[in-house]
Amino acid sequence: MKHYLEKIYPNEKNEYCSLLKNDLENERQRFVITANPEILMMSEKDDELEKMLLDEKTSLVPDGISVVKAAKKLDIPVKERITGVEIAEYLIKELNNLGKSLYLFGATNEVIGALAKKITAEYPNIKLLGCCDGYIDDKDRIFEDIARLKPDVCLVAMGVPLQEKLIYRHLSSFDKGIFVGVGGSFDVLSGTKKRAPKFFIKCNLEWLYRIAKEPSRLKRFYNNNVKFVFKIKKEK
Ligand code: UDP
Repeated sequence: MKHYLEKIYPNEKNEYCSLLKNDLENERQRFVITANPEILMMSEKDDELEKMLLDEKTSLVPDGISVVKAAKKLDIPVKERITGVEIAEYLIKELNNLGKSLYLFGATNEVIGALAKKITAEYPNIKLLGCCDGYIDDKDRIFEDIARLKPDVCLVAMGVPLQEKLIYRHLSSFDKGIFVGVGGSFDVLSGTKKRAPKFFIKCNLEWLYRIAKEPSRLKRFYNNNVKFVFKIKKEK
């Protein structure tokens, strides 16, 4: 795990957001991977994911308190959590400020429709080039369309590792654009699901809130987060 944790962005969220802003202004490309225990654990058994996480084309941010703590345990100075939903929120605001373009890919038809409507109403300067739900069969064909549209930001919300693998397969068709796999963020940003109350976020208990709301997450949590913590203990 150490090689992944050493690649993770170590500084504060605000500083990372400045890098994103700079990329937007200078039309550079960036593929952001929100490194949570789930993707890190999966990469142990998946060569494609391992290659992607270590590729210099990808930018890893610490998504989850256990990732921040794991890094500290291995003497890697990672300051704070940076989540997919926060990055998505920041990029949407900044695209509006700069009058740049966006493509949204993922979540259910209902959720993506609600999010597109909200963005059009609340961020009128964003050029929303298109959106598509994440349950369409031929996702690669949609990405070929996205490559022709050349958005400044493309958010993909289909869960790990589907969203990352899809972006990675098509990255070389683009010469600019920020790409982020944002998991369940569209559900939250559209107003369909609520993010944990501030208290839970502040106390690093967002994971507990998500399990309490959706008990079916417990198995996933055990297989990824709990096993991740034990793995780090062994590596220390
Ligand atoms: N999803 C999708 N296509 C699929 C499977 C899932 O678009 O084939 C969407 C799903 O609707 C949800 C998101 O992917 O919006 C995954 O959310 P989840 O909360 O599982 O992700 P997390 O934030 O936990 O990574």
